[in-house]
Amino acid sequence: MVHFLVLSSGSCGNSYAFYDGTDTIVIDQGLTFTGFTKRLLSHEIPPSSVRAIFLTHLHPDHSKGVGATQRKLNIPAFLSDISLKMSQDVIAKMRMSSDLLRSFHHGETIKIGDFLITAHRSYHDCPGSSFYIIENAGKKIFLLTDTGQIPYEAHAAADDADVIFLESNYDVDMLRNGPYPKRLQDRISGGYGHLSNDEASFFLKQHAKLRAQVYLIHLSENNNTPEKARRCSSEKLRSGIFLTVCERGESYEGYIDE
Ligand SMILES: [Zn+2]
Ligand SMILES: [Zn+2]
Repeated sequence: MVHFLVLSSGSCGNSYAFYDGTDTIVIDQGLTFTGFTKRLLSHEIPPSSVRAIFLTHLHPDHSKGVGATQRKLNIPAFLSDISLKMSQDVIAKMRMSSDLLRSFHHGETIKIGDFLITAHRSYHDCPGSSFYIIENAGKKIFLLTDTGQIPYEAHAAADDADVIFLESNYDVDMLRNGPYPKRLQDRISGGYGHLSNDEASFFLKQHAKLRAQVYLIHLSENNNTPEKARRCSSEKLRSGIFLTVCERGESYEGYIDE
């Protein structure tokens, strides 16, 4: 059985944990080390079970806690070879431990305990960004966030996923009529920005299988509301799919049974 946790999502910090009773794999660590361990412990996941952190990209809301977590738990952080090569200055600024940094190429699968973690490219304004497929005991988890468009590899990967974590960042009308300057609006809605509620819900309609657990993540504070994100996806999803909307900064947990 895999016990999974949205520790937090949104611009205040993103982090996800997957625990199989022996090992924990973490995707992104944009929280303080204290906040991270507190949230793990409150859901009965021992911080000492964390074996590795995998990074979607190096924006601070996904990576600012990585350095401290690496050092305190003595664990590796994985990122794409492109991120590693292109972002040395960011890595130094974030005080990540270079001895504990590992890289992969997109398409590669890494095995940690009974977890198989496969990374593919995503489309974001941060070089070498990635999305992940995590497998354990024949179950499959899909996690795609911070992308301006749906990567080719995401289509087949989501079809048979038991759990889908998908960015539903903004409502198109709220973004266009909101307080952001035009340039920033264009960045968010562009091909290397974020997924809108419409884009996320269309993808889910195409791919979420019956009985899939779907989590909408990384909702914008200024350009979205949990109600709008929920309405947009639930209108398109057929029945028999379990939808959770992750409010900014809140924790959520779930299980995948064998
Ligand atoms: Zn980002
Ligand atoms: Zn982000």
